[in-house]
Formats: sequence, structure tokens, C-alpha cells
Amino acid sequence: MSDSTIHDVLILGSGPAGLTAAIYTARASLEPLVLEGEPSSTGDQPGGQLMLTTEVENFPGFPEGIMGPELMMGFRDQASRFGADLQTVKASKVDLSERPYKVWVGDPEAAEPTYLAHTLIISTGATALMLDLPNEQRLLGHGVSTCATCDGFFFRDQDIAVIGGGDSAMEEATFLTKFAKTVTIIHRRDEFRASKIMQDRALANPKINVMWNSQVTDVIGDQTVEKVLIEDTVTGEASELPVTGVFVAIGHRPNTDLFVGQLDMKDNGYLITQAPSTRTNVEGVFACGDVQDDTYRQAISAAGSGCMAAIDAERWLEDNVHG
Ligand code: NAP
Repeated sequence: MSDSTIHDVLILGSGPAGLTAAIYTARASLEPLVLEGEPSSTGDQPGGQLMLTTEVENFPGFPEGIMGPELMMGFRDQASRFGADLQTVKASKVDLSERPYKVWVGDPEAAEPTYLAHTLIISTGATALMLDLPNEQRLLGHGVSTCATCDGFFFRDQDIAVIGGGDSAMEEATFLTKFAKTVTIIHRRDEFRASKIMQDRALANPKINVMWNSQVTDVIGDQTVEKVLIEDTVTGEASELPVTGVFVAIGHRPNTDLFVGQLDMKDNGYLITQAPSTRTNVEGVFACGDVQDDTYRQAISAAGSGCMAAIDAERWLEDNVHG
């Protein structure tokens, strides 16, 4: 059903960026509508990537740390308290060719859009990358996972692997030692990209081994994972590692498919914003959080850019709609 109201602010996404934008625009009496997304098979869900993480130790204000989902519930409750309208749906199409902007939910071929808005704040975040192995998708949810928090419990006393060499891989490997018998980090180079503190913690854990210079070429198993096939990236030598779980932690790609051909993007798909602002190349359309940040990618920087987008949208409405 379409809604003929022209919303002042429509926010796409509900991670730290989107919900901070919601808190600020709600407090500015702009009654933001937030399409917070819905759970998907690739691990996306309302609340964004912190819903898939364990303890967050570096978000200021929580000296003892806080669990990611708990932090996001706090963001959500705070946005609701000031009157943000949070809808658990995902946009299927946007039309930014004329104002008011049009947003569809459900059938993207429907003649009428579901929502109209004077301004859009895009905070659709980023999604876990996969390795594109022959059997990876078939075994996703049957031993292959992108979320240690969600699935770690299933691997009690088992031998498992984590693929990647960044902070995510270190964090997942360390977390998984709570359950697993052994965790082997498989990394394609001979040094990690991860921050020193996180690699030191992982390397000091007696349950964690590292296979350096190693690239996984496939996951093998009939119903569930039984082993991974590995190629040495220096010698080309092939080997196998028997594991029942494979956690892929090799980074993310921005969720910008909806905006292809409408908003300027970098070659890697991240939205381009006009610093020092959150403006995109379309008037009244702002972007914040990981969808436009391939440099910092932190919850706190996402939240900060959500605040900037809210202020940019408020000023733009004042100048162009309400002024
Ligand atoms: P990342 O830093 O981009 O690291 C990705 C890792 O995966 C790299 O080691 C990369 O190898 C490897 N990789 C990429 N493609 C691969 C492929 N096809 N096959 C095998 N390996 C592949 O991603 P991330 O670890 O998800 O971290 C993203 C951002 O979030 C970072 O800014 C990070 O600091 C932040 N983060 C912070 C925390 C925290 O502070 N608590 C936790 C998690 C993430 P190469 O090194 O060879 O390129």
C-alpha cells in the first residue's frame, strides 16, 4: 500500500549511522521514517554489523565494553523515544530523478512508490564478502558462516577455520575459542592486516593456529563441512585441513545496488560524499556510515557521520522546503 504523505526525512538503514541520524532528526521534530531493513541470508539485519559482533570495547562511554546487539538496542530505543518511525522493511527501488524522491518496498515494478520523501539519508552499510568457492553457497549455514556470534555455539569441541587476516578474523577467531577445540586462521599472506592489539590477543591464544600464505580453494562436505582444500600462495602446493566449520571474515562490500546509475560511486561501489558534508551528487540526498566510508569503518565514525547527515538534511529542508 502506498503512503501519500511526503516525509521530511526518510532514512534507509538502521546501523549506528542511520539510527544516529534518526535520533537527531527526531529531536529536530522532523518525524523521520526509518526503513530499518530485514534479516537476509547473507547475514544483513536491522541494526547492522554490530548485531553480528560480540563485545565492543572501543565505543566511548562504555569503559567495561558492551555487547554489540545491546548497544544497537540502546540506539534504537533512543530513536523511538524521540518519535522516529521504525519500519522493519527493506527498500526494493528508489527513484532520485525528481523531487519528492520515491522509495518502493516490496514489488519494485509496482506503478506507485510506497513512500515519498523530501530528503533521503542513506545508511545501508556494507555486507560480508564471500570467497566465491564452488561449494561455499551450498554449505552456507551448514558449516560455512560469516557470523561467529550467531553460529559459534554450534561448533563446541570441534576443529574449525577462520579465513582472513584483518580485525574481523582476529575477533572471530578469539571469540570462537570459547567453543571450539582448535581454531585455525587461514591467511593468504605472511602477515596480518589486523591491528596489533587484536593480533597479539589471537596469537597468544593456545587454541589458535595460523596457516600463513594459504588460500582456501574449496569447502568439501556432503551435508555439512568436512574439510577445506588449501593452496600455498608461494609454492602452489595443495593440502587439506579437516574442519567442521569455516568462518569467512574477509571484509565487506557496500550496499549500494539500489543507487547504481543514480548516485556517484567510487570504483569499489562506495558512495561519494562531498566533504566536509554528507551530501551526495543529488540535492537533498545524504549518505553516512559504512556505505560511504572505505577508510575508517568504525561504529563511532558511522554514528558521527549519521549526526552530520541529520544536520545536513535539517538545514537543506530549511533552505529548500520549509524556509
Ligand atoms: P579488512 O580489514 O578489509 O581485512 C580483510 C582480510 O581478508 C584481509 O586480511 C585480506 O587479506 C583478507 N581477504 C580479502 N579478500 C580475500 C580473499 N578473496 N581470500 C582470502 N583472504 C581475503 O576487513 P575486516 O577485518 O572485516 O575489517 C574491516 C574494518 O572493520 C577495519 O577497519 C577494521 O579495523 C574494522 N573492525 C574493527 C574491529 C574492532 O576494532 N573491534 C573489529 C572488526 C573489524 P590481505 O590482508 O592479504 O588483503
